[in-house]
Amino acid sequence: MPDVLFAPWRYEYLVSEKPQTCIFCEAAASGDEEETLVVFRGEKVFVILNRYPYTNGHVMVAPYSHDAWLSDSREETLHELIATVARAEKILVAAYHTDGLNVGINFGSAAGAGVAGHYHVHVVPRWNGDTNFMTVTAGMRVVPEELSATRRRLKPLFSLEKV
Ligand SMILES: [Zn+2]
Repeated sequence: MPDVLFAPWRYEYLVSEKPQTCIFCEAAASGDEEETLVVFRGEKVFVILNRYPYTNGHVMVAPYSHDAWLSDSREETLHELIATVARAEKILVAAYHTDGLNVGINFGSAAGAGVAGHYHVHVVPRWNGDTNFMTVTAGMRVVPEELSATRRRLKPLFSLEKV
């Protein structure tokens, strides 16, 4: 993910104790979508909000199976994964009027994965000038949208047939 993007609230994540269990497997198994921040459940993959977002609307698309690498996943999972990323792309553009998106995967802690062992595709909305804006306001905490508001905004869009 782009380290250049200044996101001071991520400090909370960086200094917090990392869970020993896999948050993606836990979210996949849990029925509490409000707590787990799941916004969409497909057949093989699901979409979950990042609890420590780089920007508003930062979602992750992950397989239900605890796969460390794309090559561990079955072909139908990979198909659904990229189709769901495409869907997330359309939804984020519609919901947040983004000018661009960062889409990426970190494999393994050496590559910066916060949760190694269960890959997840980050989809991060970007706007023209967002990093510049944050640079000039450095030192001020930029308050992101409440996660519950993000969830309320995105969940209905994912349940639509077409966006
Ligand atoms: Zn897992």
